[in-house]
Amino acid sequence: MRVFFSNLGCKLNQAEVDKMSRRFVAAGHELAPRLQDAELHVINSCTVTHLAARTSRKTARRGHRLDPAMRTVLTGCYATGSPEEAAALAGVDLVVTNEHKDELVERVHAAFPEAIPSGSAALDIPYVPLDFGLSRALVKVEDGCNMRCSFCIIPLTRGRQRSRTVQDVVEEVRSLAAGGYPEVVVTGVQISEYRDGDRRLFDLVAALLEQTDVRRLRLTSIAPWKFDRRLLSLWQDERLCRHVHMSLQSGCTETLRRMRRPYSAAQYAELAEELRQAIPNLALTTDVIVGFPGETDAEFEASLHFVEELKFAKPHIFTYSPRDGTRAAGMSDQVEPQTKKQRVAAMLAVAEASERDFAASQIGEASTVVWEERKSSPDGLGRRWTGLTDHYVRVWAEPEDTDNLSGRLERVRLTRAVVGGAMAERLAA
Ligand code: SF4
Repeated sequence: MRVFFSNLGCKLNQAEVDKMSRRFVAAGHELAPRLQDAELHVINSCTVTHLAARTSRKTARRGHRLDPAMRTVLTGCYATGSPEEAAALAGVDLVVTNEHKDELVERVHAAFPEAIPSGSAALDIPYVPLDFGLSRALVKVEDGCNMRCSFCIIPLTRGRQRSRTVQDVVEEVRSLAAGGYPEVVVTGVQISEYRDGDRRLFDLVAALLEQTDVRRLRLTSIAPWKFDRRLLSLWQDERLCRHVHMSLQSGCTETLRRMRRPYSAAQYAELAEELRQAIPNLALTTDVIVGFPGETDAEFEASLHFVEELKFAKPHIFTYSPRDGTRAAGMSDQVEPQTKKQRVAAMLAVAEASERDFAASQIGEASTVVWEERKSSPDGLGRRWTGLTDHYVRVWAEPEDTDNLSGRLERVRLTRAVVGGAMAERLAA
């Protein structure tokens, strides 16, 4: 079968789609470049907000609308949180909840035996480089979460925290590096909670740096209440991206308390400062929720001011939306939609300025970039190679270069700020 994947939501979902793609290819299927070319549409859904759930439903109906013969398989957090509703959507043939996601290929084969390719015993081949997207591979090292933040549906859809072994992750990263991926992103719901026996995230990252040839390694979302200071020493290895994503959610301690987040704004600021002292020129990115129940004007102002002060390289702003089954959904003092809208606009303005200022602060600095594709550059000078630096700044190559740079890791110097990032000159290796 020709299979097309639609991914919604977080990096963890993207990591899962990468892995599912490799398993489908290993089983003898092909990847379709566009939905209209597919015979099977797999959607890794999300339900973190109302909007994400709605987009998941819309995406699930898309394949069947294009071609009624196309099979549709819905998996991920929306499918897990509302399996009956998901199964009843027009055109959905199969729902696979998160706990069975790793057996998706087998479940598809069981549901559609006519689609099993001959010789599909090749399923044992774990990693097959894809024909596209050779710039970055996402590797899931753990899943689930034991916390109960009052706004979050994830513990209900992904279950309790569990981790892969260090050895298993090391082998996957070795295969990906050997398969040509210049960058590997270590991802999960709560990578700070990673544990393999008495080995923690520090031991895992140290093993990946020592035992693999991965050329660039990036960590996703670190918990501010669970930062293992031993990790700081690992940034002496230049292969570890000078980028830390640490979710804030609110810059107001009172709001954080109602969110059931176990830290204060001041503790977050202290840790951010410690990271910046230890990792020169660090890119600190974060998530912020606006309009959480009970958020007063003063609380919002405190959060806005905090985000401004912390000078994040990229704050991701989310509007709070209640998710059934969470404690916050039942709180009586929900914020009016109009108020949320105004606050989000104000927070986005701060976030955009902060991102722009960080990119501007990198002008003149040397960095590494993994080139991805040629795209129109924002300065109107035509199509240029673009990619992300180790600081997570989007750059475009100048001067124009027609060589195929896709998936190449190179040293660059950032030359000038442009909308959405910076221009960069390629430096000799
Ligand atoms: S730590 Fe909180 S926000 Fe993060 S996944 Fe767990 S419950 Fe959700």
